[in-house]
Amino acid sequence: MREACGVYGIYSYDGDHLAKPTYYGLFSLQHRGQESAGIFTSDGQKFRGKVGMGLVNVVFNSEEDLKDFTGNIAIGHVRYSTTGSSVIANAQPIIVESKFGPIALGHNGNLINTDELRSELPDYKFKSTTDSEVIAALLANSPENDFEAALTATLKKCRGAFSLVIMTLDKLIGVRDQHGIRPLSVGKMNQAYVIASETCGLDVVGADFVRDVAAGEMVIIDKNGLQSKTWSRGEKEALCVFEFIYFARPDSLLGGRSFHDVRVNLGKYLAKEQPAEAEMVIAVPDSGIPASMGYASEEKIPYSEGMIKNRYIGRTFIQPSQIMRDIGVKLKLNPIRDAIRGRKIVVIDDSIVRGTTSRQIVRMLRDNGAREVHMRISSPPILCPCFYGIDTATRSELIAANLSVEGIRKYIEADSLGYLSLKSLVKATNLPQDRLCLACLNGEYPVKAPERMQSLKLAGF
Ligand code: SF4
Repeated sequence: MREACGVYGIYSYDGDHLAKPTYYGLFSLQHRGQESAGIFTSDGQKFRGKVGMGLVNVVFNSEEDLKDFTGNIAIGHVRYSTTGSSVIANAQPIIVESKFGPIALGHNGNLINTDELRSELPDYKFKSTTDSEVIAALLANSPENDFEAALTATLKKCRGAFSLVIMTLDKLIGVRDQHGIRPLSVGKMNQAYVIASETCGLDVVGADFVRDVAAGEMVIIDKNGLQSKTWSRGEKEALCVFEFIYFARPDSLLGGRSFHDVRVNLGKYLAKEQPAEAEMVIAVPDSGIPASMGYASEEKIPYSEGMIKNRYIGRTFIQPSQIMRDIGVKLKLNPIRDAIRGRKIVVIDDSIVRGTTSRQIVRMLRDNGAREVHMRISSPPILCPCFYGIDTATRSELIAANLSVEGIRKYIEADSLGYLSLKSLVKATNLPQDRLCLACLNGEYPVKAPERMQSLKLAGF
C-alpha cells in the first residue's frame, strides 16, 4: 500500500527565506510520496519556486536551487500518484492564475467526484490529469468575489479525501475534508506558523505542535494571525486507520499520542489473539518493527533483527511487473542467516495486499535456514479497494478478497498465519470506531464512490 502525498506550509512574521525550512519539512514527509516534489514561496508580490520529478533532494540538489525562492510564505508537496500518471505536469504545488491573484495548492488525498467537477469547467484548459488541479481550477474560477467565500464554495463541492495547503500572495491556508480522512497538523515556532501532513514535519524545523486541523475546518494564516473557520459541519469523521497501521511515521503524533505507541499496542493485541509456538520474533522492516516489539513483549519471546532493509532504495521502488516485484524484495530485504538458522520464527508485517511479497519473505526465511515461519499481521485482512487516495490495488488483486485465511496461508507458504481483529485494531487507536475510516477492511465507505468508479475498481481496472 502506498501513501498519496505529503503537504507542508510555513507563514513567517519575521523571516523571508522559507524555502530551506520547507525543504527540511518535505524531507521529513518523504515517506508519503517519492515521485515528485515542489516548493513555492510568496513575497507578497509574486511566487517563486519549482517542481520536479523524484525525491526532494533530487529536485532541489543544492542550496543554489533554493536561494532565489524568497518570501515570508511557502508551501511544499511530495507526491505519489494515485490519480494522474507520474509525469511532471502532475507534480505539485499546482499554480493557477485567478482574480484573487496567483494561487498555489498542494493536495493529499483523492476526490471521488472529479469527473463531475471537471464538467463544471468545460472551457478550462487543464494542464494535468489530477483531481488536485480540478480543485485549484474551481477555486480560481469561482463566481464568488471574496476569496474565503470562493474557497468555501469550492470545498463544499468536493467529495472524498483532501488535506490541502493553499498559498495566495498574502495568506497560507490549511484545509481538511469533511471527514478528516487524511491528517493535517498545525505547529508554531518563534514568529512562524507551520502546517504539515504529520507532526514529524513540525519537529524537523523546531516547531511546537499546536493541534490537528479538525475535519471540515480551514485555518487561515495571514498578517492578522491564525483564524479558524468551520466550512462543513455534521459529517461523520473518518480518519484513515492505515495512518495508524503503516503510513504515518512512527515518531509523528495524532491527538498527542505517537503512532509508535499505537503500533506497539497493535503487536500486543496481536500476540493475545494470535499466539505462536516460536523461539524468536522478527519484523518485516521498517513498518513491522513497533508491532513486533509489542508482540515479543506480550508473548515473552525474544525479539531480534532477522532481516535488514536496504534503506537507500526508497519506499516505492517501481514494480510494474511480477518479475520486478520478485527482484524488488531481494533488493530491499536480506535475512540475517545466523539469527534465523534452525529457529522457529514469528515474522510480523503490517498488512498483506497481494500476498506476493509475503510469499517471497517466507521463502527467503526458509531458504536461509528458518525451521518454521509463522506470519502474523498487525491489521485485519484487506477486503476492499480504497477510493480515497491509497493505492490498495483492485479487489481482484487483493488476496484476502479472494482467499480465506487458510487459503492465504497456503499461498504464502507459511506454517501458520494470523491477523489482528478489527475490534483490537480500533481499541489500539484509542479512537471510537465511528471516527475512523475502516472501509478497506469492512466495506463501509464514509463517502460513497460513484457507480462507475466502483465498478472499475472492483472489477480490477
Ligand atoms: S479505505 Fe482503507 S486505506 Fe482508504 S482511507 Fe479508508 S482506511 Fe484508509
